Amino acid sequence: NLSDKLDKAFHILKGHGKITEVNVAETLKEVRRALLDADVNFKIAKDFTTRVKDKAIGQNVLTTLQPGQLLVKLVKDELTELMGGDVAGINLSGHPTVILMSGLQGSGKTTFSGKLAHYLKTKKNKKPLLVACDVYRPAAIDQLHVVGGQIGVEVYSERDNNNPVSIAENAIKHAKSNGFNVVIVDTAGRLAVDEEMMNEIANVHKAIQPQETLFVVDSMTGQDAVNTAKAFNDRLDFDGVILTKLDGDTRGGAALSIKSVVNKPIKFVGTGEKMEAIDVFYPSRMAERILGMGDVVSLVERAQEQFDEEEARKLQKKIAKNEFGFDDFLTQIQQVKKMGNMKDLVGMIPGASKAMKDVEIEDDAFKHIEAIIHSMTPKERSKPSIIDVKRKNRIAKGSGTKIEQVNQLMKQFDQMSKMMKMMQGPGGKNLMKMMGG
Ligand code: GDP
Ligand code: MG
Repeated sequence: NLSDKLDKAFHILKGHGKITEVNVAETLKEVRRALLDADVNFKIAKDFTTRVKDKAIGQNVLTTLQPGQLLVKLVKDELTELMGGDVAGINLSGHPTVILMSGLQGSGKTTFSGKLAHYLKTKKNKKPLLVACDVYRPAAIDQLHVVGGQIGVEVYSERDNNNPVSIAENAIKHAKSNGFNVVIVDTAGRLAVDEEMMNEIANVHKAIQPQETLFVVDSMTGQDAVNTAKAFNDRLDFDGVILTKLDGDTRGGAALSIKSVVNKPIKFVGTGEKMEAIDVFYPSRMAERILGMGDVVSLVERAQEQFDEEEARKLQKKIAKNEFGFDDFLTQIQQVKKMGNMKDLVGMIPGASKAMKDVEIEDDAFKHIEAIIHSMTPKERSKPSIIDVKRKNRIAKGSGTKIEQVNQLMKQFDQMSKMMKMMQGPGGKNLMKMMGG
């Protein structure tokens, strides 16, 4: 996997006390190898490393305080460029706007059609119409109706018509006369690329002239994804790519490869089976994900919005002096709560999303924690090590929790304190600085 390989590449840098031209070159060779293995075209991979190297030399990487980090940043910036640089918007200029979905069976077209309709309805104030053009499986039409029902969006289907072109045309007529301003056409896919499917989708495409033709691809399919993207693009000249199932173990190497092969922007990603699991694609965030840094940028952005700088400074001092206690923990929780949904936040912490994949995080996950801390004496809060079994029992009773929960919190707290101390080290300094410390 690309991330592991890049990890390995950067490991070379981390392993050396001093960065030299030799190990920068070595690292970049590893990076190039990793890109090649992830199906990035040879020339693109070569240009990529050349650009990073030129920049590294230009910025005198070797003379900076943290050359390893700077090099990682240069690689991240180039990866971002490789994936399109900026966010690619969706063209909603039509009357109505027609959006055509293409892709193999099982890639997530029907699910994504629903997600997009939901997104346009709730975030863009649109009135979308979903159209069922998968005429081969009656179950496919039912599926779209279920999706439409979930999000309160009308679904247009013709059960006794097996011509997707005329269904799509009729749907657009229906949209025009009923005030729908976006028409999302869900189509049939096959398990593999074949002529019949390609002809069919090309015919629909020609007939309805969509503003947006989107190619939907399962991000877990690797090399196949790239070939499929190429085949569809050759016939449809599509406008954008949708990467689905990014909630799995994949870290998004496909994003890199697809973009570099078809040179079309990735517009959205799917991150789950629910209708809300849709995100606008941010190349820079994906670059971080590929590099295994988690979505640090989003986390920092959100933290910056909410974090009280003064508070952060005080906190940093306390951590440095080893005085971080449960009262500070409570303050942290309040800060985190202001930042928003816990699940999102956890997903942004490098490594944490994987570790916590199976843990259910409730929105009021902090309720018990707060109750437990409130049941401690001020002295216990500042020096948790004095809490013995007897007191733990009392605290559990006082907070209406179980002793296991108290134990668990104490353990978590211990881990957190350790982590915070680590954040004081070379790697974490910048994060703390960015957070206003
Ligand atoms: P289609 O054949 O292209 O229309 O694909 P579907 O929309 O029917 O999706 C195929 C399967 O993938 C279904 O079980 C979906 O629930 C699932 N699926 C679609 N998108 C996602 C996603 O972003 N994440 C996850 N985990 N599953 C997804
Ligand atoms: Mg489908």
